[in-house]
Amino acid sequence: MRSNLVAGNWKMCGDSASIGKLVANLKALLPAEPGVDIAVFPPSVYIVQVVGGLAGSPVGVGAQNVCEQPKDGAFTGEVSAAMLADAGCRYVIVGHSERRAMYEDSSERVAQKASQALVQGLTPIICVGETEAQRDDGSTLQVIAGQLDAVFAVLSAEAMRGIVVAYEPVWAIGTGKTATPSQAQEVHAFIRALFAKKDELLAKGLRILYGGSVKAANAGELFAQADIDGGLVGGASLDAQEFSAICRAA
Ligand code: PGA
Repeated sequence: MRSNLVAGNWKMCGDSASIGKLVANLKALLPAEPGVDIAVFPPSVYIVQVVGGLAGSPVGVGAQNVCEQPKDGAFTGEVSAAMLADAGCRYVIVGHSERRAMYEDSSERVAQKASQALVQGLTPIICVGETEAQRDDGSTLQVIAGQLDAVFAVLSAEAMRGIVVAYEPVWAIGTGKTATPSQAQEVHAFIRALFAKKDELLAKGLRILYGGSVKAANAGELFAQADIDGGLVGGASLDAQEFSAICRAA
């Protein structure tokens, strides 16, 4: 009952020329009906360019971050969920570990961002994951439960039908060290069980993506796990050939 989603997080990479090329290559390589949901997440200044470039293709566009404030106002440097929706976004990543670590996005603020995204009709992809030290000291599941508790405190079970969760072990992001399929599956099953405590149907329909050094060579094995419903892909999403191979594996 869950369709897979492959999301390409372009992070702070590229310029209008390279992004134009990437979009053209994706359009050429991806089938018109890929049988899986696909979305790309350009830096915010290129969102409008990418939405235009991908018009008529099955690939959706999202932002990498959003402001938690509900209304326009004096929030210098921020972009609201309403603005993202107006620019043509369908998704937004919230709580990426790089934002949690470098820009003080607390779990509470991440939940507020997800809430604002939902109000504007966007699908928030809520990222959770443990650091290497946390995995080593055995607190992985506790860390993830804590990150999701903040979401449960803010969103109703009904609202959570509109979200996607991404499990991204911090030690696997950009390092080339992927979680093994069984390591990832264990955490994905745990996440689904947490949602099942809120609402069984919600948990069954919830898409949980794996992120952290996903590439064409490991995507098939990861996506074959019972509770892995696609991937959040960083580095490999900047290469159209590699990204479309990952989409085909989903
Ligand atoms: P990576 O990044 O695929 O380059 O490890 C994943 C992410 O940060 O979303």
